[in-house]
Amino acid sequence: MAKFDAKNFSGRSQLNGKYDVIIVGAGIAGLICGTFLAKSGKKVLIAEQHYIPGGYCTSFKRKGFIFDSAVHHIGGCGKWSIVGRCVNELGLEIDFHHLDPMDNLIFPSFSVEIPADIDKYKENLQLMFPDEKECLDGFFKELTKLYRSIINNKADSPLINKYKDLTYLETLDCFFSNPKLKTILAGQWGYIGSLPGEVSTIGMCQMLINYLKDGAYFPVGGTQEFTNAIVERYTELGGHLVLSAKVEKILTDDSKVIGVALAGEKEIKADVIVSNVDAKQTFTTLISSGIDNSFIEKIGKMKESISFYLLYLGVSADLNLSGLKRGFYYQTDGPYTHDNWKYISVPTAVDKSLAPENKQIIFTLVSLKKAYDETVNWEELKDDYTESTIDYLTRFVPGLRNQIEVIEAATPKTLKRYTLNSKGAAYGWAVTNDQIASNRLSHITPLKGLYLAGHWTTPGPGISSVVSSGWKAANIILKDNITN
Ligand SMILES: Cc1cc2nc3c(=O)[nH]c(=O)nc-3n(C[C@H](O)[C@H](O)[C@H](O)COP(=O)(O)OP(=O)(O)OC[C@H]3O[C@@H](n4cnc5c(N)ncnc54)[C@H](O)[C@@H]3O)c2cc1C
Repeated sequence: MAKFDAKNFSGRSQLNGKYDVIIVGAGIAGLICGTFLAKSGKKVLIAEQHYIPGGYCTSFKRKGFIFDSAVHHIGGCGKWSIVGRCVNELGLEIDFHHLDPMDNLIFPSFSVEIPADIDKYKENLQLMFPDEKECLDGFFKELTKLYRSIINNKADSPLINKYKDLTYLETLDCFFSNPKLKTILAGQWGYIGSLPGEVSTIGMCQMLINYLKDGAYFPVGGTQEFTNAIVERYTELGGHLVLSAKVEKILTDDSKVIGVALAGEKEIKADVIVSNVDAKQTFTTLISSGIDNSFIEKIGKMKESISFYLLYLGVSADLNLSGLKRGFYYQTDGPYTHDNWKYISVPTAVDKSLAPENKQIIFTLVSLKKAYDETVNWEELKDDYTESTIDYLTRFVPGLRNQIEVIEAATPKTLKRYTLNSKGAAYGWAVTNDQIASNRLSHITPLKGLYLAGHWTTPGPGISSVVSSGWKAANIILKDNITN
């Protein structure tokens, strides 16, 4: 992992009293937004409360092992896809491993490999389900068209209108009768965290087609390297980034923003503020006036996405990990529930540089039985999940327990502590029909000069989407031409 270069970060004493734009939070959306604005000549400050930038796209090091905190791969990095185009447009210096197959779905009685090629995947499914051959043709064709309408922002498109009120399960029911095929086609729902019967078709299509058309990518050296590449470019373009600098207030005057107050009382002025942070925090803690009550009430009724328990293991070279395929492990053949799956990967199988010579990493993400508010004792939860997850992994890796050299675990509480995402939400608002597309929060807010970027706004969660979100927010700000 590249060391942070001190030249990329500004000390508090080096900050200007006024910027064109201040961005609250150095998540990927905030960094991308800031870099596009800096490239257009704006004077930009990004203030981040954590001591490293990246939000959920960070890595940490223990005894020579580099663990990715949350994000384990990125979609849409091919040259025609959103991240690929952004990398090109900004001139980011970053290399990716292309993951092919991109995923596996492992059920107790069968498993399916998902290649990084939509046509190949469709053909494999047609061989498994010959009776559904034509329906599979129709399904992938329709979803690809829907995906194009979504990324081209065609809000009035007849296809978006057709699917905007359908859950993904309802859409699958329209196309297929075979329950096993429907289970497979819904198998990656965990990437946006709402069950197939709840998740919006639009949200699922956005994520699924993006991955299937272009596969998934892993930044060489770990996910922090993706963040570092953006930071490097941002600061080269003259952007300021201050770390360990929590924004306590967004300052307002007459229904417009005028700046921010950092923890420790320092006030910095700007006519444009972009919030890349949890939307509840933005509208209920950071802002104390200038927003209509009905808007605050709407925010109060919206629902966060799910969160996870995470286990990071650094293990010895002697263990044979070939029994662990990257992908979703389900405890039943269906139906899906929130607490019957895990996601397991061996990042060192993709990038050996993440561990000391010949050592290996196992990363496991576990969905939880209890909601955030029902959990009383987080330490107890962590200990219980650590034990049961190691037991589970031992089924695939005999002798695992004695070969663990480093062990770290995180709960939703940990995710919240490091990113301030409400309830440790992995994906911002839940991706349900009433909270996606035009029902998700807009980049433009009721407060003049305040914009949103990130997974609490459109188009939704995941690195590819928040890159798009940050880019779009920058374009809106430049178009509004509020700052000169
Ligand atoms: C366990 C897990 C696994 C995931 N895996 C993947 C994956 O493999 N691929 C994928 O594409 N997506 C994945 N996601 C989803 C993805 O990580 C998120 O959707 C995305 O990173 C959100 O980016 P963001 O820019 O919106 O904000 P965030 O990453 O939430 O960043 C917000 C930033 O704002 C800072 N901040 C908050 N409040 C303040 C304040 N008051 N002042 C200053 N700074 C503040 C935070 O510290 C943080 O750095 C995963 C998420 C989780 C939790």
